[in-house]
Amino acid sequence: MQRVINWNNYANFNATEFNCRCGCGAGGERVSLVLMNMLQRARTRAGIPFSINSGGRCQKHAAQVSTASNTLASDHTFTATQLVLGADIRTTDNAQRWRIIDAAQREGFTRIGIGNGFVHLGIGTRENAGARNPSNVIWLY
Ligand SMILES: [Zn+2]
Repeated sequence: MQRVINWNNYANFNATEFNCRCGCGAGGERVSLVLMNMLQRARTRAGIPFSINSGGRCQKHAAQVSTASNTLASDHTFTATQLVLGADIRTTDNAQRWRIIDAAQREGFTRIGIGNGFVHLGIGTRENAGARNPSNVIWLY
């Protein structure tokens, strides 16, 4: 069971940013502590704003918007027993995208997706029982 996240530990993030965008109001409380620690370290290293395009997604919303073949397995999808293991960071230009990906890889992110206007930063399965997704991958949207 993961400890409750103390959002005061994160200078550049708050729980609301990670809530599901469907309006259900949930998700921020289901973000992996490991993910948050890594995101803050990457953000500090990069030295530029990390704007969260998409954090947690409830199962209903995931079914509507996810590009994953198994939406339950998406890094974004949270359930009562499954934590959010990834987030999409908005990108506006090539240099910013490089800084985010460089910092993310240096801080141990093993799941990176490159989209038009965002990068996905995700982690493996350290906190969750059972494998969800492969590590050491970069995909395109
Ligand atoms: Zn939702």
